[in-house]
Amino acid sequence: MTTATPVRTVVCPTCGGPSLYAPENRWRPFCSERCRQIDLGAWASEEFRMPTEAPPDDAPYGDPRTQES
Ligand SMILES: [Zn+2]
Repeated sequence: MTTATPVRTVVCPTCGGPSLYAPENRWRPFCSERCRQIDLGAWASEEFRMPTEAPPDDAPYGDPRTQES
C-alpha cells in the first residue's frame, strides 16, 4: 500500500499560483523558473531605474562658462 505523500504548496510570489514546495522544485517558493526570473528581473530593474531617473544637476551644455563670445 502506497501512502500518498502530502503535496505542500505555497503561493508563488510572482503569479500568485500554487507552487510546489518540495526539494524537486528548485525554484521554490516560485512555481517555475520563469516566475523566479521575473521576480529577480523586477527587482534588478528597480535598482537600475533609481540612478537613471534622477536628472544630472550639471548639464554639460547648460554651463554658461563654456560659451565663448
Ligand atoms: Zn508563478
